[in-house]
Amino acid sequence: MISREEIAKQLKKYDKKKLAIATICSHSALQIFHGARQEGFRTIGICTPDRRELYESYPLAAPDEFIIVNKPSDVLSEKIQSQLLRKNAVIVPHGSFVEYVGEKNICDSFQVPMFGNRLSLKWEGDRKKMMSWLHQAGCHIPRHFETPSQIDRVVIVKFNGAKGGRGYFLANSTADFEKKMKKRIAEGLVSKEDAETPNIQEFINGVRYYPHYFQSVLMGYRKGEKERTELLSMDKRLESNVDEIYRIMAAGTLQELDINPTYVVTGNAPITIRESMMPELLSIGKRVAATSKKLFGGIVGPYCVEMVVTPDLTPYCFEISARIVAGTNLYPMGSFLSAYLFKEPMSTGRRIARELKLAGKQNRLDEVLY
Ligand code: AMP
Repeated sequence: MISREEIAKQLKKYDKKKLAIATICSHSALQIFHGARQEGFRTIGICTPDRRELYESYPLAAPDEFIIVNKPSDVLSEKIQSQLLRKNAVIVPHGSFVEYVGEKNICDSFQVPMFGNRLSLKWEGDRKKMMSWLHQAGCHIPRHFETPSQIDRVVIVKFNGAKGGRGYFLANSTADFEKKMKKRIAEGLVSKEDAETPNIQEFINGVRYYPHYFQSVLMGYRKGEKERTELLSMDKRLESNVDEIYRIMAAGTLQELDINPTYVVTGNAPITIRESMMPELLSIGKRVAATSKKLFGGIVGPYCVEMVVTPDLTPYCFEISARIVAGTNLYPMGSFLSAYLFKEPMSTGRRIARELKLAGKQNRLDEVLY
């Protein structure tokens, strides 16, 4: 594990007036570059050749400079790391960054300063740790089943790693679980290795919300407050095929048609929540941030708590994304909530750059970079 001291050492060599915001060209990179530019930062896109055209097609969100790599995980190479260090780069890690490079590689061998607390990636990458984080934050969480033999209700079966829902399935009994698992292994949707450690969770029926929080360690809401949890926006993920599965049901029931819902994220849609539920949503964000302090020194910057709200208005939290989520891409010019926080259009990407700028001005970069 690279220590805070090692990153602080790298940072000492930086020209603080010339910080550049860098990330891999994927996931929420357009928004990150766009927001960074709005705050006056130079931007660097680490890009595979096939992606360059997309970024050049949006001049206001294109990075000022491309570093072309054969594959995203090349950022780990000594050559690219020293290039980034020479350019005073600060990395903004997003979901694809973590997936392509690997949480362990980032924590053990990526020397470039990153926005946020890289320890949070360890907690989001391990389902047991993440559920314990939610539990300790006092959130309602779905019931967990240690073994398939315990299944006594509808469950969702998940697999390790940020796989965008690939291979997940629903089961309503032990026998149903065994049958569906076998089928998935045979179809190559789930590896034998992953099949050995399924995460079996109670399926919560309701409406999903994915609120986007930002933990600022530099400003409070009221005088004397040193930090604040901002609820900047929210979205709902669109997952194929489950989110439009009703369309095929014109031809029969799912059982008759032998169709299983799948949960592969294909995009995001805007959503809002009853104002009467906002205190609870804000409280969840605050509790998750407060608990993270005890667990690993605290989350810094953007995160999301994935939840399902049931008909009795209970939010059941089933996942934390401890970094910027792609649902924030809906709001490059700010959201229906950021409008009440900032006079200017404030995306999550811009919010990151704003915090970095403020930290630089206050000589507190070590508090937002690790
Ligand atoms: P995850 O990998 O945990 O983000 O799950 C992927 C998707 O599966 C979510 O976006 C939800 O649509 C669905 N999902 C996950 N867990 C649950 C749950 N406990 N109850 C209902 N739906 C869930």
